[in-house]
Amino acid sequence: MSTDLTPSLGSFTRAVSGKNTSDSSVHDYWEGLSALTMSKLADNWDKTTKKYKGVKRASYLSAEFLMGRALLNNLANLGMVDEAREALEEYGLNLADVLDEEPDASLGNGGLGRLAACFMDSCATLDFPVTGYGILYRYGLFKQSFENGFQKESPDPWMETGSPFVIRREAEAKHVKFADMDVNAVPYDMPITGYGTDNVNTLRLWKAEPMEEFDYDAFNSQRFTDAIVERERVMDLCRVLYPNDTTYEGKVLRVRQQYFFCSASLQCLIEEHKEAHGDIKTFGQFNSIQLNDTHPVLAVPELIRLLLDEEGIGWEEAWKIVTETFAYTNHTVLAEALETWEVSIFMQLFPRIFEIVTEIDRRFRSELAERGFDQGKIDYMAPLSGGRVHMAWIACYASFSINGVAAIHTDILKRDTLHDWHDIWPERFNNKTNGVTPRRWLNNCNPRLSALLTEVMGDDSWVTDLDKLATLEEKGNPDIYRRLMEIKKANKEEFAAWIMRRDGIEVPTDAVYDTIIKRLHEYKRQLMDALYILDLYFRMKDNPDMDVVPRVFIFGAKAAPGYKRAKAIIKLINEIANLVNNDEAVNKTLKVVFVQNYNVSPAEYIIPATDVSEQISMAGKEASGTGNMKFMMNGALTLGTMDGATVEIVDAVGEENAYIFGAREEELETIMTSYNPREKYETVPGLKRVLDALVDGTLSDGGTGDFHDLLASLLDGTSWERPDVYYVLGDFDNYRATRDRMAEDYRNQEEWARKVWINICRSGRFSSDRTIADYGRDIWKVDGQPIA
Ligand SMILES: *Cc1c(COP(=O)(O)O)cnc(C)c1O
Repeated sequence: MSTDLTPSLGSFTRAVSGKNTSDSSVHDYWEGLSALTMSKLADNWDKTTKKYKGVKRASYLSAEFLMGRALLNNLANLGMVDEAREALEEYGLNLADVLDEEPDASLGNGGLGRLAACFMDSCATLDFPVTGYGILYRYGLFKQSFENGFQKESPDPWMETGSPFVIRREAEAKHVKFADMDVNAVPYDMPITGYGTDNVNTLRLWKAEPMEEFDYDAFNSQRFTDAIVERERVMDLCRVLYPNDTTYEGKVLRVRQQYFFCSASLQCLIEEHKEAHGDIKTFGQFNSIQLNDTHPVLAVPELIRLLLDEEGIGWEEAWKIVTETFAYTNHTVLAEALETWEVSIFMQLFPRIFEIVTEIDRRFRSELAERGFDQGKIDYMAPLSGGRVHMAWIACYASFSINGVAAIHTDILKRDTLHDWHDIWPERFNNKTNGVTPRRWLNNCNPRLSALLTEVMGDDSWVTDLDKLATLEEKGNPDIYRRLMEIKKANKEEFAAWIMRRDGIEVPTDAVYDTIIKRLHEYKRQLMDALYILDLYFRMKDNPDMDVVPRVFIFGAKAAPGYKRAKAIIKLINEIANLVNNDEAVNKTLKVVFVQNYNVSPAEYIIPATDVSEQISMAGKEASGTGNMKFMMNGALTLGTMDGATVEIVDAVGEENAYIFGAREEELETIMTSYNPREKYETVPGLKRVLDALVDGTLSDGGTGDFHDLLASLLDGTSWERPDVYYVLGDFDNYRATRDRMAEDYRNQEEWARKVWINICRSGRFSSDRTIADYGRDIWKVDGQPIA
């Protein structure tokens, strides 16, 4: 059947390729279809942008937006998926291949950046007047490959030749000044479509460019290298996204990036506010600005600077506006992980901002002194102390709202990390449990399950009201359970075909898919997962008749390039994969797959195929986690600790519908005071054997000594760190027993599927629509502003 998209798809594809449609490549069709999609949303985008300028609005400032691909999401939101599929078929192409041409926009490291992306989606779907502001990195997060089992990083130039969904808005450029550099900040806008609405929101990403076009005078007068070097210095500003957790040089550059996008965004907001409302003094009544972690906290002194120096108002008034405007989201429980910068960096880059921070500090100190606080406490909490600027303390002082990202996390903040702040300003604290968008993470990535949900409900209203899934729970029956397992099987086949196509890896589809995908970090304990697999391998070798449920163990993780121990864990997992996958005695039953270059679109293939969601961080360390929610929606059961939002997942489904193990957060402090990992090594059956295998020649670290170091970190510690900080050996026995029991339970397919159904039906509260509705009501005070 010919659809009305067919001729326009042909036109757009010819326009971008400059060829006839039969000579155009699959990539050309991707570009053509994307351009066609843009043409369909452009008018509504313009209308939405204009409408939001006149109302109470919110801005989401984030150094990271891990957007992934845009085309399928936009097609689905515009209701064009079937038409697009049919039109492509007219040209002999299939939609999946065309979608696979799009590079992921990986302008983020992990959970924090992906959260920002899910929030953008929910804001658009709820018609919320919210704009995202960030940085247009030329190179997103590094591309990962494995060489001999070691992680290798290479650059990810995701839009070297432009991107169909990123529009340069030269006319709205802003001037950002540093003491040693003038920068032209050019906005690049991405349209954010919502589901079931005409509204199209905006993600504005700033790019740094030289103020003047190329200096031909300098070029001609032999100073050509100077001219080039100066241009490159400016372009450097947003050349690369910093992979966090590294012991990095380039701190100055990072602070520069932060100031750059904060300043440009605020200039933009002030200009738009004055245009719409005239009076700068009402800025705070029309603007809420959410600071996603401390990376955008320079917006606080920068807003003061703009109000004082550009708008000519006094300090008291400026501070009042600031405290009406900013809200701060904290993402970590570790006080030592909160960003601080050397004072010298501030003095070098922007002396005026340093002056303003100094004044904030002076006023803070006198306010606390008045309240009778002792000098030690004041010094600890002050924005400036020990020769450093404390970004989180500026955020806490200036913001009217401080939120954690899961109930347990917010409790820890109040009790521990930020308890001094909570003592003074308890009313500022609130919890906003994270969520994920059910469009990308269920409707688009798992069409089979989505069709079942729509069929059972009678319509697809669950896509924008995920709580409605709760009404389906009682409709669960043996027929539905059987179909759930068929869907999972079909998704495994799709995953298997994808990983074969992508990496040439063969995986069986008649096995439990047991998955851990997240950034590689010691606290997330991928190491414990790996030790279990090694232990299971040894148990099977010892006992050839052991009846083990077939398992595919899936890993996906990038390690920060400077994080040596995380990279050692990657190598270890790859070595275990080698051992297991090449041993005829076990490889009919076990398969270990480490998916290279974990990112948003791999996650979209892996999650719908997964049965077991590993959420095994040491209790108290994972602020929220959002991977756990994606898995739940897609019918994976959680094997996890009581940490982050997993606590709330267990609260929703009941402990009988999840597999929970391990020490609890409230007991760990006591446990750790007398914890002796060597005792576990000696007494927990099998533990000595797996740990010895790291260094006895069973597994090879390629002569690097990495595995020795890993073992030492567990048993001996270092001069700066006690052994097994993350309680891997402590939780191991309980983890193994729970994981074994879980695999056994899988044999009863109907009972397993019943639990799966309960998990899906109760996942409503983990929709980012719920989270954003909470932000909108409690913090931003914004309402839906539909354009139609
Ligand atoms: C959801 C997601 C994350 C966060 O995963 P956690 O398990 O919550 O740490 C990280 N990276 C990508 C690509 C994601 O999609």
